[in-house]
Amino acid sequence: MEQLLRRTWAEIDLDALAYNFHVLQDRVGKEVKVLGVVKADAYGHGARVLSRELEALGAGYLAVSNLDEAREIRKAGVKLPILILGYTPPENTALLMENNVTQAVVSEDAARAYSAAAAAAGGTLKIHIKADTGMSRLGFLCDGEHFDDTVETVLRVCDLPGLEAEGIFTHFAVSDEPDKADCVAFTKEQFGRFTRLIDALAARGRTFALRHCGNSGATVNYYEEMKLDMVRPGIILYGCSEGAEKLGLKPVMTLKTTISSVKTLDAGCTVSYGRTYKVEQPTRVGVMPIGYADGFFRTLSNRCEVMTEDGPVPQCGRICMDMSMVDLTNAPNVEVGSEVEIFGKRNSVNRLADIAGTISYELTCAVNKRVPRIFLKGGKVVETELRMYL
Ligand SMILES: *Cc1c(COP(=O)(O)O)cnc(C)c1O
Repeated sequence: MEQLLRRTWAEIDLDALAYNFHVLQDRVGKEVKVLGVVKADAYGHGARVLSRELEALGAGYLAVSNLDEAREIRKAGVKLPILILGYTPPENTALLMENNVTQAVVSEDAARAYSAAAAAAGGTLKIHIKADTGMSRLGFLCDGEHFDDTVETVLRVCDLPGLEAEGIFTHFAVSDEPDKADCVAFTKEQFGRFTRLIDALAARGRTFALRHCGNSGATVNYYEEMKLDMVRPGIILYGCSEGAEKLGLKPVMTLKTTISSVKTLDAGCTVSYGRTYKVEQPTRVGVMPIGYADGFFRTLSNRCEVMTEDGPVPQCGRICMDMSMVDLTNAPNVEVGSEVEIFGKRNSVNRLADIAGTISYELTCAVNKRVPRIFLKGGKVVETELRMYL
């Protein structure tokens, strides 16, 4: 523990996760399942521990992007159903079934391959039909002239041997931009296409136990008018994004580091590579053992503040691979060993993402495996995780 906490670490607040989960479950009502999206190592937070927590909190489902992620969660002992949102090669169908993993089906060819493999293995693969209502990524197209064809195709797919069509879902492109009229119109258009497809299938006798479309954006901005059987939030569960702020959700990850060295530099000195920061007067500069390899984006160089016990201080000079510097002139109490928050509870990841020209998702996902995750409950460390082969 001591060893883990010396350099740079990410605190994962499981109480914040529980709070966020309950807010979301209350929001959608107890008859609607909350599926926790835990792909990409739970957006960098640690999928094993978070999946276990979500199961204990009462989540109805989990989703990941691929089979390896699903197997990791199974290995952690989680029994919840898991949906793979992305691609799984059909030759892995037996593994999917063995691990009780549900597969998104995005085309008839894929469905036929899964069906053949499942039948050959003598099992049944649970599938969710993916409808492409306007994301133009994965799934069956269902706008305009594609509609009738898709209805027939989905009916055929659902009847294939070895497949159990448990669910149907779609994904929104702009549900997180409720202030733009065209985005609102497009989201409603997507939902209209989706419900039209569901209705047409139902009219032909094909219904689904789990119909879902609510990513974070839709769960925040459209939950009443787009209520189905399940919602599928990711980022707001972690308390990041504007939508999370709107619902008063709490950031789960706080990325912290320490001051490893402090020097007072003379006027005229320049800090770090490229000499982009020039000291105009004698300046107390601290070195933090965190760099872009840890997930502190280089594009934030000279453009952001980090949080200390004396308040925010400006980061100065280029962020290096393993280190970065801060101007401590206005933080007299900060010295070697002091804790610094890069983002999290006191320094919003949303703001940092804005400055970097990206989204909070990318910042939490980018926290490197060499940064230990410290899981906290009631202010106490309940688990630590370091994904290195030591
Ligand atoms: C990632 C993902 C989600 C979760 O998105 P958030 O914006 O994090 O809520 C939901 N559905 C699908 C298909 C996804 O790929």
